[in-house]
Amino acid sequence: MADKQKTLVLLKPDALQRDLLGEIVGRFERKGLKFVAMKFIRLSDEMLDEHYAHLSDKPFFASLKAFMMQTPVVGMVLEGYDAISEVRKIVGSTNPREADAGTIRADLSMNVPSNLIHASDSVEAADTEIKRFFREEEIFDYEKITDRYIFGEGI
Ligand code: UDP
Ligand code: MG
Repeated sequence: MADKQKTLVLLKPDALQRDLLGEIVGRFERKGLKFVAMKFIRLSDEMLDEHYAHLSDKPFFASLKAFMMQTPVVGMVLEGYDAISEVRKIVGSTNPREADAGTIRADLSMNVPSNLIHASDSVEAADTEIKRFFREEEIFDYEKITDRYIFGEGI
């Protein structure tokens, strides 16, 4: 049996500016991922230093941070079987022009840094990133009437 996992997603300023929030959210809804948290977040310089620490020595680091602070981002926690790798699969590769057709980045964007969306890339990253952006009481455990069809429990 696959593991039920939680993963962290951020919809970047280009998604907000281009009115693609609904399109992106809809793709995750149609997959059957459960939205267990969602809010606007105004990212700070300190948050971005942590979140993109692995890129701090890159020449584009300062402009990446400036881009991420242009507008609030939409943060969400999604739950499902193998949610971390499944969400990354739906998001596609970092460079939209190398991403597979059918993914969010390939279908809806063209370049970095404006590739619309961030998603955690490992169990460790998901754990750290969920805690970075959400307090425990902002993450909800609730039943949906479709759970048994989507998760296959008790059908
Ligand atoms: N990025 C960029 N130029 C690059 C590589 C990355 O502007 O050459 C930006 C891009 O927005 C990317 C983010 O930095 O999504 C984080 O990079 P990472 O390598 O972690 O890719 P991701 O996990 O987002 O696919
Ligand atoms: Mg990454």
